[in-house]
Amino acid sequence: MECPQNERLVEFSFQAIHAEAATREFRALAAHLEVCPTCEEQVSDYVKLIRRVRRVLADSKATPEAGPCLDDNTLAEYLDGVLGGTRRDEAEAHLAQCRTCLRQLIELSDLMEEVKTAHGTLPTIVLGLVRGGLKLLSWPETGFAPLALEPVRVLGPVADDTKDTQNVCAWTQNLGELRLAATAIYSSPQRIDLALTATTPAGPAAEARLTLRCADTILQAERLSSSGQIVLHNLEPATYEIELVPRNDAPHAFQLTLRPSN
Ligand SMILES: [Zn+2]
Ligand SMILES: [Zn+2]
Repeated sequence: MECPQNERLVEFSFQAIHAEAATREFRALAAHLEVCPTCEEQVSDYVKLIRRVRRVLADSKATPEAGPCLDDNTLAEYLDGVLGGTRRDEAEAHLAQCRTCLRQLIELSDLMEEVKTAHGTLPTIVLGLVRGGLKLLSWPETGFAPLALEPVRVLGPVADDTKDTQNVCAWTQNLGELRLAATAIYSSPQRIDLALTATTPAGPAAEARLTLRCADTILQAERLSSSGQIVLHNLEPATYEIELVPRNDAPHAFQLTLRPSN
């Protein structure tokens, strides 16, 4: 038996903790663990993690009401320790009772770890507005390859009679096998909406997981739509780390520096 995917090891860990009736798959995995120290160690980490989460949850003053399932964003905020007050209590109350969400939490924490260790230095793109037009100011020699030498201006700068001038630009990048189409809209010099569409050779990167981080804090974690799209609203000029994990595929990570327009 080849090493199973982490998802299955997580499921195995839950089954082991709950001492559930052994399925055939459970037995096959147990046999694999006996001969594979890597997976064995992974499972032992998962079991410890699940127990730790459960213990923390048991100690917390979580209310007994479970509430609705948690979205990726809430889970990421929880992992990052930025979820406070009632929202934290509610999340913990739910996690204490919902195996699905607890599993999501573990997968997400795993994912964040994986992305961190897989990418020592990140490729960076720097974007800014130069004289009313958006320009790709730089890109690294490796990792990112612009499809065109210059970003393609689609709409901007556009003057609207009723609103302030909006600058809109689009460009495409290759990240290994992943193709990323991006549109940046400067609604003001300090506010940028960023729309991303990710495509793999097999088609849209449907439901790939994206995390957006700034100064080591997660700002957003969400799944892409079924057509591989996501819009990140109201970004301030700053350097962001973006991590994108397509389903059953290796993670991609890059840095994006947004400059204010002037
Ligand atoms: Zn293995
Ligand atoms: Zn849930």
